[in-house]
Amino acid sequence: KNTGVPYEIGRFRADWERYPVLVRQYHPDLNHGITLTQVPPAAEVYLVWECDAGHRFVATPAEQRQRPRGSRRHSTWCPECAALAVRRRPPVAAKTAPPAPPYACGHPRDLDRIESDPADDRCYLCRRLDGAPVTRDELLSIVAPRMQRQLAMETGTARRYSWLCPVGHGSYEATVERMLAGRRCRTCLHARAAADRFDVGEAFRSPWAPKSASAAEADLRQRLAARLAIDMEPNAVRVPRPFFNHIEVWPDIVIPEFRVAIEYDTTGRGGLEHVGRREHTDRRKDRLLRSAGWEVIRVRCGKLQPIGPHDILASGVSAALVDRVLDELREVRGDLIVNSYLA
Ligand SMILES: [Zn+2]
Ligand SMILES: [Zn+2]
Ligand SMILES: [Zn+2]
Repeated sequence: KNTGVPYEIGRFRADWERYPVLVRQYHPDLNHGITLTQVPPAAEVYLVWECDAGHRFVATPAEQRQRPRGSRRHSTWCPECAALAVRRRPPVAAKTAPPAPPYACGHPRDLDRIESDPADDRCYLCRRLDGAPVTRDELLSIVAPRMQRQLAMETGTARRYSWLCPVGHGSYEATVERMLAGRRCRTCLHARAAADRFDVGEAFRSPWAPKSASAAEADLRQRLAARLAIDMEPNAVRVPRPFFNHIEVWPDIVIPEFRVAIEYDTTGRGGLEHVGRREHTDRRKDRLLRSAGWEVIRVRCGKLQPIGPHDILASGVSAALVDRVLDELREVRGDLIVNSYLA
């Protein structure tokens, strides 16, 4: 939603003149000095309004203009006045305490909050934002739309919100407190180390990739490196969508020139690797690689069955297996290309 730059003063004066009550409820000093004539009547921005009784509340221009006809005839409309009117309706209404005035920042007073600063009557969050590396507007621009209104009125830091990564990595949950401490999208954070500098489909050396898991996998890489005049240093491939908070995947063996990833799959000591839910993860990883222009050859050991068109069944690393992998590489990229890289 557009929370930012308004138009020049006077631009929407004619539109707003039809709503004298709203013009009276609106005060630029409650809205960063922006006048109502700068706000398009259909803008999806949260503005602070003040009723004739002095209640402040937040609403979009559209919400304000859509108030029921009846209430528009009254001198003013405000949620607190409306609530009070409902409570007054019964003839013997219990005497209610007068509503506490809002904080100096316009946010509703939290009577349960013990902490306060006698020299600064703003809400706790507004005071905390003073020294924070982020503004409320910036937080409003990344909070999930359904929680925007709540955050606009938020006075504390303990509540959990859902936040959206600005570059499309999806959402994550965090308290306002964590956001004040600098919490942001983990995928963005990870990508900064290396992946951000590469295009989708490029292979690179990533600091995040785990060390080679097994001796057999290292053996296979070594044997392939001996047969191919190819730099096998890269351990990651940039992919178009996040995979476990990374925009890169880490195949066991990366062959950049062929754009082929080789995985050496065993069920592991516990017999649970690459089976069940983990097989779905493997398939998702393969789909991501293929969508980045790569092909995947999985060497499937033990009782693991093929899950891709180029998978090879094996019982361990051997010279014969290396030959079969080279054959499969020819199958994928053609004899000419693969043979031209033979060492
Ligand atoms: Zn009111
Ligand atoms: Zn405040
Ligand atoms: Zn992100």
